[in-house]
Amino acid sequence: MQGRILLVEDEENLARMVELELQYENYTVEKAFDGKTGLDRARSGDFDLVLLDIMLPVMSGIEVLRRLRRETTIPVIMLTARDTVVDKVTGLDMGADDYITKPFAIEELLARIRAALRKREGAPGDVAANVLTAGPLQMDTERYEVTVRDTRVELTRREFDLLRYLLEHKEKVVSRETLLDQVWGFDFAGETNAVDVYIRFLRAKIDDHFACKLIHTVRGVGYVIKEGQPPAAG
Ligand code: CA
Repeated sequence: MQGRILLVEDEENLARMVELELQYENYTVEKAFDGKTGLDRARSGDFDLVLLDIMLPVMSGIEVLRRLRRETTIPVIMLTARDTVVDKVTGLDMGADDYITKPFAIEELLARIRAALRKREGAPGDVAANVLTAGPLQMDTERYEVTVRDTRVELTRREFDLLRYLLEHKEKVVSRETLLDQVWGFDFAGETNAVDVYIRFLRAKIDDHFACKLIHTVRGVGYVIKEGQPPAAG
């Protein structure tokens, strides 16, 4: 067996055509025709790779990807009919492994699938793919564990998600608005001080507790995680 692929695509004729081609290549294929079902199935752990359309009923592919990436590093290839830079950037930004623009040649799709699965299997990268680090801090995104100098740090789900986003963008300044968008979702739009509150929680549990300095404030902009320098003496 080559691998188990979840195909989330609402155009049933296209989905059927892709399914047949993939089965011909000995992949096991399951189809989902809307975003919500796709997300539920993608979360199941039953698959090695997800092909994810962007324009989907019930929940968009971008939203599916956003939610999926909070839980798993499963390879995702976005299928997009709209050949716009915004879609590609959004998809890749949110953790898609690759994208392919419809209409595509099946050979190209197969090549992308092989590449994504290979990357996944790449022996040394496999562990590293689930582990984010900054100085003495390690986050295992599959086991939901955070340690600093090998000591476990207990975080709430929100703290974990916030820390994860910052770690994924290590050394880059992330605005409060972006954090609110990416970690809280759109419901909280406007209440940027929620971010500051949770940053304080994280600092108390990590920087203060372990006397390191990972979370930095960039005044008027947002926050950045930098590899820990030892705290300045005095
Ligand atoms: Ca579609």
